[in-house]
Amino acid sequence: MNEDNSRELYDRALSVMPGGVNSAVRAAIEPYPFFVQKGDGGHVIDADGNRYVDWVLGLGPLLLGHDLPEPVQARIQRKASEGPMYGTPTEIEVDLAEFVVRHVPSVEKIRFVNSGTEATTSAVRLARGYTGRNKIVVNQGGYHGAQESTLVEGDAENPRPSSAGVPQSFAEHTLPVPFNDEEAVREVFEEHGDDIAAVLTEPILGNYGIVQPEDGYHEFLRDITAEHGSLLIFDEVITGFRVGGLGCAQSEFGVTPDLTTFGKIIGGGFPVGAIGGRAEIVENFTPSGDVFQAGTFSGHPVTMAAGLETLKFAAENDVYDHVNGIGEQLRTGLEEIVAEQAPEYTVAGTDSMFKVIFTRDGEAPKNAADVKNAETDRWRRIFWGKMKEQGVFLSQNQFECQFVSYGHTEEDVERTLEAYKEAL
Ligand code: PMP
Repeated sequence: MNEDNSRELYDRALSVMPGGVNSAVRAAIEPYPFFVQKGDGGHVIDADGNRYVDWVLGLGPLLLGHDLPEPVQARIQRKASEGPMYGTPTEIEVDLAEFVVRHVPSVEKIRFVNSGTEATTSAVRLARGYTGRNKIVVNQGGYHGAQESTLVEGDAENPRPSSAGVPQSFAEHTLPVPFNDEEAVREVFEEHGDDIAAVLTEPILGNYGIVQPEDGYHEFLRDITAEHGSLLIFDEVITGFRVGGLGCAQSEFGVTPDLTTFGKIIGGGFPVGAIGGRAEIVENFTPSGDVFQAGTFSGHPVTMAAGLETLKFAAENDVYDHVNGIGEQLRTGLEEIVAEQAPEYTVAGTDSMFKVIFTRDGEAPKNAADVKNAETDRWRRIFWGKMKEQGVFLSQNQFECQFVSYGHTEEDVERTLEAYKEAL
């Protein structure tokens, strides 16, 4: 496989960008990442002309794949040609807000921002402002973006920054508990109940393997937060408009959070985030309330056009049937391969998310500790390269999940399963 151009580009990048990349995980590929020239359906083509079946899909936003259908493309191009943005409201922001409010029952009002990180940052500030409390409960192994309140590890007794640059005094207000552990949540509420502004959780852990909630876990979180006057925030940056279709993961689990953070798919492949929820809470954002929130690019017309047309296309076509069907085929095929060749490993995922986790005992992980205990290094050292050599682009480490798009075909599934067979 010729990779001269990627290698050369990476050398150039290393001399002008930290680690040669603009987002840390992209450099996880060793000895260097491939540089993408363009996308094509469910594939990407790199700077040396190598073609890969792409199950990374920009880390989640590309529900429709790389070839946007004609109405989506046309609307994006029209918006861009009318001048990129204005610093004053536009109709398309209202259109997308109305669409989300119509389809996600817990969302009565929504504020658009520019990334998932910005969405969770604003949601945490909103929860603190609304409740007048300081602390937030998060899950170990949950990811809510590169922000001060959630770059925290350890446990509720000893929270500590997970990154240099985050003061310990910030970390003290964040209480990490294991996913799927009701007792741990009960304990933090017993200890800190009066000062917990919110429980912030991914409905499915999507940045740490893919870990499903056990039956009743989210209902339990709903009840205990309500009992203590705390908010329940679902971070649906990954699951939003992917799991559970247009109703999002909360509709699949039948649980109504107070606030939901969105990102990725809601912007149709352009930079986006959003905070939606009960009107009475969301109204606390400035200017209607006193929780400061603002952004030059927020509600960007080109992003709003891409998001709205993507979601409308999904509503009017067989998008969810297609991506969930391919997801099912992949998971079933992988389960057969794993049963035969590596029964200690586990196939995880739902709807259009999938991952093989290199567990040691064939048990589906229940929390981050279970995933951490997997053969994470093997993924990076051996497995990833063997998949890439065969023209299959998987997420760069054991933790990030993989996605299916409307652009993927059964042929892509077959090719991918063959490659897994070989690599495993
Ligand atoms: N929340 C979750 C659940 C995410 O998966 C991510 C990113 N993968 C974020 C927040 C942060 O989003 P962004 O990278 O757009 O800032």
